Amino acid sequence: MSYGLSDEQVAVQHTVREFAQRELGPLVAEAEATGRFPRPQILPRMAELGLLSVGVPESLGGSGGGSLLLCVLAEEIARVSGGFAIGAMASILAPAILVRLQGEQANRALLEPLMTGQILPALAFTEPRGGSDLASMTTTATKTEGGVRLRGQKTFISNGPTADAFLVAAVRADHAGLPREERAKGIGVHVVLRGTPGVSFGPPMKKLGMRSSETSEVFLDDAFAPAGGLGGGTGAGRGFRQMMELLDVNRLYISALSVGLAQAAFEASLAYAKERSAFGKPIGHHQAVGFKVARMAMRLDAARALVQRASELLDRGERCTRQVSEAKLFCTEAAVEITSDAVQIHGAYGYVEDLPVERYFRDARVGPIWEGTNEIQQQIICRELGLYGE
Ligand SMILES: Cc1cc2nc3c(=O)[nH]c(=O)nc-3n(C[C@H](O)[C@H](O)[C@H](O)COP(=O)(O)OP(=O)(O)OC[C@H]3O[C@@H](n4cnc5c(N)ncnc54)[C@H](O)[C@@H]3O)c2cc1C
Repeated sequence: MSYGLSDEQVAVQHTVREFAQRELGPLVAEAEATGRFPRPQILPRMAELGLLSVGVPESLGGSGGGSLLLCVLAEEIARVSGGFAIGAMASILAPAILVRLQGEQANRALLEPLMTGQILPALAFTEPRGGSDLASMTTTATKTEGGVRLRGQKTFISNGPTADAFLVAAVRADHAGLPREERAKGIGVHVVLRGTPGVSFGPPMKKLGMRSSETSEVFLDDAFAPAGGLGGGTGAGRGFRQMMELLDVNRLYISALSVGLAQAAFEASLAYAKERSAFGKPIGHHQAVGFKVARMAMRLDAARALVQRASELLDRGERCTRQVSEAKLFCTEAAVEITSDAVQIHGAYGYVEDLPVERYFRDARVGPIWEGTNEIQQQIICRELGLYGE
């Protein structure tokens, strides 16, 4: 992506592209095989390059920039490894989210170690009984001296096994028994640190793709979260709104990540369509293959345009719920289609681990599932179009 980017954004794009290709590329094979996110080799270097403080103004010690730049990071890292883009996602987004929610009052005790890569965060929203209906979550926050005590279970948490700080969504205990709409008003996001008594984890989950990112359950048994994390849970709906705002940023990141995977699959396919021959000519000269490549290029361009539009609206503070959902829906579907076509273009070589094409395909498949399934995105779009009434 460089269309629509400023010179400054293009310069950051080059930095992160070079970093990803030169420094992250060689780590991918081992990380995929072991299922471990190589945090020591990734986070300190990203901090050094200023990539963990994008979206944080310089007045707070950050690198500046906004959502579009966060999307550039997602795309460039995912071109090399979808798993790394997920492992680093919370580290990249948490500082920007803190500032978006708390402004100049952002919790420095959290912001600084996040920006320097000293702590690895995790976003813990999903629960075993369902991730789509967040308002029905059952993890409770009970007010106590200096903070809250959290009780419940989260699942499918990226970085779950290794994170130092968990951004946990929970409903206020005194709202837990209320009807759905009222419950939602009691939802807030709290920060719990690793090592806090009452915090424990399940084993890393074995997944179809994104294998170099670690995923697990997180158990909270009266775990203490100090006040001043992300606040919320005021009973006035602020916490739930905060969580939804946070999801907008996450969804754009996931959209761009999907574009990165699709870009890698497209580049591999274009090269292969030129070099592989069948029936006396390059396979790209057979329309069935060439047209697939053409459609890949078209979908990639459209996907990026949707990411850019939604990012710009978000940064201008304009309402963009529909545009974010459209980007998430389109980009994740496009990535599944493009990576699947890439496997087809590569024939049997697309199906074996000698080439990364099968990994792109496996990694892309989670896109329509997470950060609000694509069914939910379509519901949101319908709602925003007024289809269900005002
Ligand atoms: C690899 C991976 C990493 C993840 N990382 C994180 C993380 O770091 N933090 C976190 O909080 N979560 C994470 N998740 C969880 C993810 O966000 C959820 O899986 C997702 O929100 C969907 O929730 P669910 O799996 O419970 O599906 P469900 O909500 O149970 O939905 C099941 C199916 O029913 C459909 N459905 C549900 N409701 C409706 C409806 N009203 N209309 C139509 N269809 C509907 C869904 O679209 C889906 O197809 C991760 C998931 C994966 C796979």
